Amino acid sequence: MDLYKNAAHELHEKLVKKEISSVELTISIYNRIDQVEDSVKAYLTLDKENALEQAAKVDKIIASGEKIAPLAGIPGAIKDNISTKGLRTTCSSKMLENFTPIYDAHVIQKLRADETIFIGKTNMDEFAMGSTTETSYFQTTHNPWNLERVPGGSSGGSAAAVVAGEAIWSLGSDTGGSIRQPASFTGCVGIKPTYGRVSRYGCVAFASSLDQIGPITRDVTDAATVLNTICGVCTMDSTSLHEEVPDFTKALTNDVKGLRIGVPKEYYAAGLDPKVDGVLKKALADYEAMGAKIVDVSLPHTEYAVITYYIIAPAEASANLARFDGVRYGYRDMKATSAPEMTTASRTEGFGAEVKRRIMLGTYVLSSGYYDAYYLKAMQVRTLIRQDFAKAFEQCDVLLTPTSPVVAYPIDGKMDPLAIYLLDVCTIPVNLAGLPGISIPAGFVDGMPVGMQLIGKVLDEETILRAAYAFEQSHDYHKVMAPLGGK
Ligand code: GLN
Repeated sequence: MDLYKNAAHELHEKLVKKEISSVELTISIYNRIDQVEDSVKAYLTLDKENALEQAAKVDKIIASGEKIAPLAGIPGAIKDNISTKGLRTTCSSKMLENFTPIYDAHVIQKLRADETIFIGKTNMDEFAMGSTTETSYFQTTHNPWNLERVPGGSSGGSAAAVVAGEAIWSLGSDTGGSIRQPASFTGCVGIKPTYGRVSRYGCVAFASSLDQIGPITRDVTDAATVLNTICGVCTMDSTSLHEEVPDFTKALTNDVKGLRIGVPKEYYAAGLDPKVDGVLKKALADYEAMGAKIVDVSLPHTEYAVITYYIIAPAEASANLARFDGVRYGYRDMKATSAPEMTTASRTEGFGAEVKRRIMLGTYVLSSGYYDAYYLKAMQVRTLIRQDFAKAFEQCDVLLTPTSPVVAYPIDGKMDPLAIYLLDVCTIPVNLAGLPGISIPAGFVDGMPVGMQLIGKVLDEETILRAAYAFEQSHDYHKVMAPLGGK
């Protein structure tokens, strides 16, 4: 049985009815990994022994007649910047190549409490900086729809694992689009929750005011299910929101009658691939046919979002990554003869080019004399961007935009960093404003998946999930398996 083809909610039913066992399911995932991982390269570390042990434990619980949580016994994959006790966590960096955490991230604690299964840790851009997984120190992940193309990033490994059948669900992290953009490039569902909904405790910090962990799944029901498990108050994260967590699956009503969908014209501007635009226009027409109302809105400061992000994120990264000094964590140069020399050599060797570029940029914009001109200015523009959204949401309930202006591009390292930065235009504003955003499959262009993004008000994940679910139920893009072929 090709169990790896099922969604988590389908597998939960089968487990409860005792049609399958968790051990059987977990083995089927590892068999699939044996078949396809050489061409996909989604994983950095596998944890087969512990996974099978955990699966056997869940089977015992089921046999005893005890009720199980929706994700119990269902194999998932974890991005390698999320701390897993006793399991190597590298952030795809030479700096942390041999780092094994002594504690679990809050999300991992919650998932363990629900008796889920962790298959392994997934490849990513180094310290989550990038959009392709090409900045990983270890390997580049390949897009299951076309192995010669990027899977997106930085959570490219997590997205590819789910789409290739090497995991049923996964976790990613999103600082400027790193869950939604790979979900879009690989044809699956990725949600970045409202800032503070999910604890950042144990997520290796990149840009603390933007980072947020979230699910990557086959369908919207699974996204809601994983979200149910990982959201919630955490005393170890001072930005954790003390808000009630609803049952997100209750929002999946398959009804969008009267829903006001805002279309911000700035997201449908120059740079958007006309074929991607065509897919989104079709989606809007479909929503209208389902009874939603389409409203034109404007987010006038959108053009400043990318540059604002590329000041704020590197500024925060330069402070966060100062802890990797060769003394406390990770890689240490053993040839240096003094402490300062050792720190310099460890950082020079331990970090890759993209990470060093961001540290330098961040240090520069925070230095005295430049702070006011760059960092402070960026913070002011961030407020304007946030206000744009607040205004737009006076006229609509959700916003519908492309997730990325283009489909996945070839793995050839030819794109210059600046061109790649500019492609983050649709996802970055959502992080700057702390809003929830979801990317779901909306169609195909030249055989590659196209994602559409739904952006919601603060703490209103339910409305974007409702809209996403209604679209999904009237299409079957999420049911098409990636061919795992070339060209
Ligand atoms: N692509 C963006 C960057 O390179 C976003 C990364 C992310 O969300 N972690 O910073």
